[in-house]
Amino acid sequence: MELDDLKSMVLKCRKCPLYKFRTNPVIGFGSIDKGIMLVGEAPGKKEDETGLPFVGRAGKVLDELLSKAGLKREDVYITNIVKCRPPNNRDPTEEEINACKGYLDIQFNIIKPKVLITLGRYSMEHFQKKFNLPKESISRCHGVHYKITTLYSNLLFVPMYHPAASLYSKLIKKRSIRDWEELGNVLAMEY
Ligand code: URA
Ligand code: SF4
Repeated sequence: MELDDLKSMVLKCRKCPLYKFRTNPVIGFGSIDKGIMLVGEAPGKKEDETGLPFVGRAGKVLDELLSKAGLKREDVYITNIVKCRPPNNRDPTEEEINACKGYLDIQFNIIKPKVLITLGRYSMEHFQKKFNLPKESISRCHGVHYKITTLYSNLLFVPMYHPAASLYSKLIKKRSIRDWEELGNVLAMEY
């Protein structure tokens, strides 16, 4: 399967009630051949309007954090665990995540990232399960570098705080900057 096939699947998708509220699903954006994949939570208002991930306030923070790691948006592929916007920006439910996460798995299999960065708790928990890692809270494992070996590849998994959290907490912003700087050091040496 290719990303174009996935796009037509998502455009038709009615696997959970969120299709009723969306203007555009947000499937993903960026470079699929550089091996770095970022996974956020769900589209917000601006994302729903444009069909693009992280184009609102959290997106501004994300761009700043990417730059701390020496990265630009064009260097990475960005998607979310849930492709349609939950009404009033509420958190996605477990049912919605379960209905949607198969699309993320398809994207993961197409892109085969060397570096996988999750943004926030929901996408982190999905990959902790997928990689058989212990279930740890984001306050304990943000910024940790997990070397994952699967049957098909080796990859670096790094759970990060959600960029929006930096808008509400100075402490999280400080920790996030440090996490992204550390990631930048490793990327410069090894990837
Ligand atoms: N927050 C997310 O998790 N994803 C987006 O695309 C925008 C905001
Ligand atoms: Fe389908 Fe995901 Fe949209 Fe739900 S959120 S309708 S599962 S694409």
